[in-house]
Amino acid sequence: SVIPDYLDEVLRHVEPDTGGELAGYIPELAAADPERLGAVFATVDGELYGAGDIDTEFTIQSISKPFTYALALADRGFGPVLAKVGVEPSGEAFNQISLEPGTGRPLNPMINAGAITTHALAGSADLSPAERVERVVHGLSEFAGRRLRVDDAVCASEMEHAHRNLAIAHMLRSHGILTEDPSAVVEGYVRQCSVLVTARDLAMMAATLANRGVNPRSGVRVAPEPVVRQVLSVMSTCGMYDAAGDWATQVGIPAKSGVAGGLIGALPGQIGIATFSPRLDRHGNSVRGVSLFERFSSDMGLHVMEVP
Ligand code: GLN
Repeated sequence: SVIPDYLDEVLRHVEPDTGGELAGYIPELAAADPERLGAVFATVDGELYGAGDIDTEFTIQSISKPFTYALALADRGFGPVLAKVGVEPSGEAFNQISLEPGTGRPLNPMINAGAITTHALAGSADLSPAERVERVVHGLSEFAGRRLRVDDAVCASEMEHAHRNLAIAHMLRSHGILTEDPSAVVEGYVRQCSVLVTARDLAMMAATLANRGVNPRSGVRVAPEPVVRQVLSVMSTCGMYDAAGDWATQVGIPAKSGVAGGLIGALPGQIGIATFSPRLDRHGNSVRGVSLFERFSSDMGLHVMEVP
């Protein structure tokens, strides 16, 4: 196959770009190796192609959000989830303390306010905080096709500086969007963000979305088709936060970024793509990850609005 050579070439092209910064607000992430760089394609037929650092573990961070949204929708149904979390792009930063006027509902599940709420909606209502974390880790693992684990050091490091997410959770509690103890929900959400993955795992997770909710390798159905459609739609409008419009026009692939440097894209019926490069732009998206996706999209005609 020519794909590995192509991936090597594109990686070499973006490698010299040292723009951007590591996520400084989580001390443990600021200690990451900024030079790491990798990219993986996982097709819906179960083929996998990668180049660079594809087996280096890093924390999933916000890339957990679309998958936890899928679990909440599958576990609780659309009505109860939509009543608590909207689907409108916020055009604001991922950690903005903004809730819909009147209802207090977070605008969408990709910003922290929405993701903290969907964490609380994963699994049945009567789960303990620890059982809910296990529901989420198990669900993320099924998307990846292998058992994933939590990085306790990153989790503890983020919890020490979680004042903003705690403030958001208390606001949600005051509006009755959250009904549980806000600090327990934030702790669970931060554990969810601290799940360790590789670019290979992320590509499989994205490929499971691209493959209508069935993991292409394990054959396990992880989410129902209507749930996957909902998740991909929200990724395409909100996945890149306040850079979602630039992304939609220039790359045109439903996507999600994380502050540890991961980035996924899922092209329905075709392919899951993951990149890893830790330095971030001012929106919290990986600088070289965005460049890689721009190349992939234009070189291979992957923009969803383009006729193949
Ligand atoms: N755990 C991070 C936070 O809540 C995730 C943010 C991200 O990846 N954009 O701030």
